[in-house]
Amino acid sequence: MIIECCYDSHVHWLGTGYNSRLLSCRHFRSKEDLLLIPQPIPDIDGWILGSGWNDNEWPDHEDPPNRLDLDKMSGDRPMVLWRADRHALWVNTVALCQSGLLEGTPGDWRPTPLSLSDPTGGKILRDIKGLPTGILVDLAMNSVLDKIPKPSSSSMRESLLRGISIFNQHGYTHIRDLSCNQTQWEAKLSLFEGEIPLTLAIEQYFSTDGPRDFDRALQEALRARSDLHGLKAPQAHKIRVCGVKIYLDGALGSEGAWVSEPYRSGSGNGLSLMTNEELQSIMRRTWEHSLTLAVHALGDEAVAQAARCGSALARLGIAGDLHLEHLEIARPETLRELSALHPTCHMQPCHWLSDHTWLEKKVPQSKPHYFPWSDIEKNGMRLFFGSDSPIEEPKLSDSITAITHAARYGIARPLQFPDAPWKYHQHPDPNWIPGCQTELDPITLTPVRVHFAHQEVSLTSA
Ligand SMILES: [Zn+2]
Repeated sequence: MIIECCYDSHVHWLGTGYNSRLLSCRHFRSKEDLLLIPQPIPDIDGWILGSGWNDNEWPDHEDPPNRLDLDKMSGDRPMVLWRADRHALWVNTVALCQSGLLEGTPGDWRPTPLSLSDPTGGKILRDIKGLPTGILVDLAMNSVLDKIPKPSSSSMRESLLRGISIFNQHGYTHIRDLSCNQTQWEAKLSLFEGEIPLTLAIEQYFSTDGPRDFDRALQEALRARSDLHGLKAPQAHKIRVCGVKIYLDGALGSEGAWVSEPYRSGSGNGLSLMTNEELQSIMRRTWEHSLTLAVHALGDEAVAQAARCGSALARLGIAGDLHLEHLEIARPETLRELSALHPTCHMQPCHWLSDHTWLEKKVPQSKPHYFPWSDIEKNGMRLFFGSDSPIEEPKLSDSITAITHAARYGIARPLQFPDAPWKYHQHPDPNWIPGCQTELDPITLTPVRVHFAHQEVSLTSA
């Protein structure tokens, strides 16, 4: 079985390589599994860093993760564990103190003014005494993330090379990378100027933290585009600067996705991260420069906002290349409105495998609108699949497993399924890098041979 130009349409390249250097909490089934972390616990520049826990999959919701659990094992080092969806952090007391969210002496911590109110677009979870529990959601994560020492450029290059190797091992020759800023861009550019042959074609987006940060991302994307034009490096054709990525909401797991049906827990309707005016201005400015706007819209209200703002601009004769990321819940009338904007939709079937266990507990009435891949296609929109690596492992077979599994829950299959299941994982431009082929084992669907630009790629770890 051969896939031409095997494409993961939504990944975080640097994050995938970096993540492979962190403690893995992916297999945790409860807080007690913290004991599985090998001793002595390694750190990166003095910080214990890990990722992959997901308390939605834990049986005991009575006993949520808390900073005190981490304090027991971290000593005086700060400790930060990303949730699997990357929209929440579990941190220890030392990390909260170093970030200015707590002050005091051991056993007698006090919140600081910074921790008394939630930042816009984020949540600091608190215990009954009003002290931060050590769980920070969405933009509240920034106070801690800003304190983690920035990786050096050589450390960044190491993560990027590891990332390429991980994608190749999973069969991919093409990725669409949704994370970049100026520092990352310089590290990436140095790879494309360097001697090491790179075996991956990359579509690059520059990411923003919020509407106030948009100008920076836009300027960086424009500068990167002109860097590439002027670059004589023989490998420069392997990367394309596509556009800017923004967030309209958070993730479902942490109840940050913006949904019309209030979450059963009583936490509200999720996070709305920008106003219509802000979104329309961002769309207009991105399209003025002929860049693509990639919009993170996970909940049905976020998808509806993208449709509403795109339509409002269309009525003024303003249009451009719009890509929508995730669309885990979307209403039929929204998809009809969206189709007039001719967007490209990027979904991650593997998220179904992780989310289906609790989705119905959070937003049961939205069930008819979960994972609407077939509706997206019926409305004539282009659809691609990806993994959101490192949030999920970039495993091709997961897409097939998820669609088959979801069909048993009443979620209609994509239209090309099962006749051309890999269509959604093929890059639309076969002429970009000719000679890219992935051969899969027909039973296990794991890659047995990968060719990039007619050269066979080694599938052993870097
Ligand atoms: Zn992502």
